[in-house]
Amino acid sequence: MGTKGIEIVGMDVSELIKLLNKAFADEWLAYYQYWLGAKVVKGPMKESVIAELTEHANDELRHADMVANRIIQLGGEPILNPKEWYDFTNCGYDAPTDPVVYEILKQNIKGEQCAITVYQSILEITHGKDPVTYNMALQILEDEVEHEEDLQSLLEDIEIMMKK
Ligand code: FE
Ligand code: FE
Ligand code: MG
Repeated sequence: MGTKGIEIVGMDVSELIKLLNKAFADEWLAYYQYWLGAKVVKGPMKESVIAELTEHANDELRHADMVANRIIQLGGEPILNPKEWYDFTNCGYDAPTDPVVYEILKQNIKGEQCAITVYQSILEITHGKDPVTYNMALQILEDEVEHEEDLQSLLEDIEIMMKK
């Protein structure tokens, strides 16, 4: 933990760490939802869907890494026990109980829309107060916006194909 780096944060650092831990729980649950979705998914254009889900799983894991590093920089501790993910999460977890492509895509689109809301809110809260967290949240938000669009285009393509 760097003392000057923490001193320049113009907001309640423990509140910020809590918000980041909530996002951290979201990222792990999103990672697992994508990773498992890629294993069980069935239906049209399965190979393209698996490729996209796998890519997104890797991105979510990278986001978890970024958020954990920032929590540690701020002198906090990332959630140590996965049991606590459910207590902290904003976006929850959607089990792929119906593994057909459209259902998996819809579940993950919902998750991305929640993630966009979460990072938009972190951006608003840290704006002008913590440029380092702000910059991190912006990088992650850019990925989440891309993820939502990727999944919605895939779903659109599958729907067009199914109508023929
Ligand atoms: Fe993410
Ligand atoms: Fe995402
Ligand atoms: Mg993608």
